[in-house]
Amino acid sequence: MNLTDLTLHELADRLKKREVTSVELTQAFLARIEATDARLNVFITVCEKEALAAAAEADTLLDAGKGGPLAGVPIALKDIFITEGIRTTCASKILDAFVPPYDGTTVRKLREAGAVIVGKLNMDEFAMGSSNENSAYGPVRNPWNVDHVPGGSSGGSAACVAAGQAAATLGTDTGGSIRQPASHCGVVGLKPTYGRVSRYGVIAYASSLDQVGPVTRDVEDCALMLQTVAGYDPADSTSVDTPVPDYCAALDKGLKGVRIGLPKEYYIDGLDPEVKQSLDAAIATCRELGAEMVEVSLPHTDYAVACYYVIATAEASSNLARYDGVRYGERVDNGEGLIEMYRQSRAAGFGTEVKRRIMLGTYALSSGYYDAYYLKAQKVRTLIRQDFLTAFEKVDVLLTPVAPTPSFRLGEKTDDPLKMYLSDIFTIPVNLAGTCAMSLPCGISEEGLPIGMQLIGRPFGEEILLQAAHAFEQATPWHQRRAPL
Ligand code: GLN
Repeated sequence: MNLTDLTLHELADRLKKREVTSVELTQAFLARIEATDARLNVFITVCEKEALAAAAEADTLLDAGKGGPLAGVPIALKDIFITEGIRTTCASKILDAFVPPYDGTTVRKLREAGAVIVGKLNMDEFAMGSSNENSAYGPVRNPWNVDHVPGGSSGGSAACVAAGQAAATLGTDTGGSIRQPASHCGVVGLKPTYGRVSRYGVIAYASSLDQVGPVTRDVEDCALMLQTVAGYDPADSTSVDTPVPDYCAALDKGLKGVRIGLPKEYYIDGLDPEVKQSLDAAIATCRELGAEMVEVSLPHTDYAVACYYVIATAEASSNLARYDGVRYGERVDNGEGLIEMYRQSRAAGFGTEVKRRIMLGTYALSSGYYDAYYLKAQKVRTLIRQDFLTAFEKVDVLLTPVAPTPSFRLGEKTDDPLKMYLSDIFTIPVNLAGTCAMSLPCGISEEGLPIGMQLIGRPFGEEILLQAAHAFEQATPWHQRRAPL
């Protein structure tokens, strides 16, 4: 087996035992990127020099029997995480030349744990999208079938792990952007509870929904990555000051006696038959492992997508006001005055989907419409959160599909934004509720495309998610499958 096929915990182990050096490992991943990325377009920036220097440093520590839990392991980051001295574009032309002056909190924590950053990953521009086709740097292709999308917006993060270009990655999830691409690429992705991980130094899309999380090859890797980045951060006023449990300790507790809720609104007629089949098989496996299945209802599910597109676009329109050609990135100035300079810079710098959302959000927030749209959406959001809290009075976790279909073909939904928006129907409610959820592989379609299942937990219930996911993973072969690249 190639080194680049191993999991993060296997690699960390080999590094600690000095069976391989971090420099060798980093070279192996850089070679894998070199060999595959012309086909996949996963990386916006590869930091070869910086990575090899960090690897050499990690080796010195490891030789002395020191180094953090991720010492010497090559990882990569969605290009939404600002990184000191390394270009950070958010896949937008407007930030094409932006080199941040500092690291965000999660990046700092990863570096402190010894991780080696090999590069910055493609994504939908400003994290707006479900297919990674909204990138100023071109679409990412799915490693399982290059005519298909990897999902989005963290499409690069999921494809990177699936293609063995890094041991693990970080993504962000505002309405499904970690879970849906993880599902489409056959890897594990976790969106933590809102407030669990700092957003300081993460470019904001919709601040009340955005959350950082890991994309990995298996559940143990996911626990390790979450352990590294979770925790209170005074620099992010929305991060929550509650202790971080030992996530790895939760892994082996099994499924016996765990009550799993099946929300009836998520098992609908429109579900792709192969997705349904995989979910049915997953439910049967959980039952065999001793879990108890309970039907539950999340009655406001139907309103989630509409509610999300009011709140997310409203927040985006406000967050993206800062890109004005003065403080950040690209400026177009034809000498026609300040307002024209703003207008032309934004017209040239933003892509179509980003403009569509800025306009939608500005409209929803404008005087006379605020109450009818934004305020109303906030009320609906409260009802959706309440649905989940009520369900969690009866069950420990919920088990649902991640997406209604496996990955679709490139170009299949680009002409119809509404169709694209609906591909997040099962992931969006979780962000509105502010709770945690993860996606893990549970099948492969006849066409050879991965299918994922979603586990949803109560707020700050990441431990039980990881516990249930690990039990399922140990009983099934899906996480061992590798994309046939
Ligand atoms: N696809 C959703 C959107 O376009 C979610 C994106 C995300 O989670 N960042 O907004």
